[in-house]
Amino acid sequence: MLLSVIVPCFNEEENVAYFYEELMKNKPFFDEKKLDIEIIYVDDGSVDETVREIKKLNQADDRVKLISFSRNFGKEAAIYAGFKKSTGDYAVMMDADLQDPPSLLPEMFAYIEQGYDSVATRRVSRKGEPAIRSFFARKFYKLMNKISKTDIVDGARDYRLMTRQVVDAILSLGEYNRFSKGIFGWVGFKTKWVEYENVERVKGETKWSFWGLFMYSIEGIIAFSTAPLAIASCLGVLFCVLAFILILFILIRSLFWEDPTSGWQSMVCIISLVSGVQLLCLGILGEYLSKTYLEVKNRPKYLVKEEL
Ligand code: UDP
Ligand code: MG
Repeated sequence: MLLSVIVPCFNEEENVAYFYEELMKNKPFFDEKKLDIEIIYVDDGSVDETVREIKKLNQADDRVKLISFSRNFGKEAAIYAGFKKSTGDYAVMMDADLQDPPSLLPEMFAYIEQGYDSVATRRVSRKGEPAIRSFFARKFYKLMNKISKTDIVDGARDYRLMTRQVVDAILSLGEYNRFSKGIFGWVGFKTKWVEYENVERVKGETKWSFWGLFMYSIEGIIAFSTAPLAIASCLGVLFCVLAFILILFILIRSLFWEDPTSGWQSMVCIISLVSGVQLLCLGILGEYLSKTYLEVKNRPKYLVKEEL
């Protein structure tokens, strides 16, 4: 049996070799289960010496493979490329910064042997993370689960061990705007959740800025829910009802009390409010349209510069 380990790397020169060492601490386990492994490092357009470090490993151990992108295409593209290149009967996705502890592998594999198709991990704490980031992350998962049919688990990592069948299912979703946490949930299969305490990254810095994460969460919502589109219709109905009541009110007032309608200030307020709402709805529509536009263009998800 072959196990493919997929490692997306973006400027991880300090971690590549360290990750390899840590993974190889599982050698007794691999031997015991008669598991061959291949390690697919996906270099996501790093500008540091990541590629050189991977090549060094490749020279020493031919189980180490490399896909190098022509530029930074994002982690989602790297995951896809890794899955596509993998040939294993099982595949596992892990971050290069060791936030996904390789020491969990034996436990995860035991569940696969028990008949689960996929073993996912979630961190039960977020210690070491900025408080504001944790706060918004929690809110995002709450909202997401309300407005999307796909189950998206709070604290879920991309660290997953799965069978070939699940990998093929994930690859069959060829969309351009990829949101892995949603895709994993969408494909289904019997999934076991393993929990662990958050581990801080060993070296280097996180590649996610607050703004980057915010945009990513919008992408997730657009990709897995159409609820925002319904907001437009609801607001439209609400404003129609409101306008109707106001018209009645003014009509009755001027008919029975002969009270002239006055006040351009109130007019300005109403016009600003309503045009604001209209622009918001147009924006939501545009958000979906732009994603559709990108899908329709059907551009490749990544471009490979070098492969070993
Ligand atoms: N990563 C990537 N492309 C990117 C950003 C990140 O391949 O554009 C990789 C990165 O090298 C790491 C993993 O994705 O292996 C997780 O990134 P990071 O640790 O920065 O995210 P965090 O753990 O803080 O969410
Ligand atoms: Mg990390």
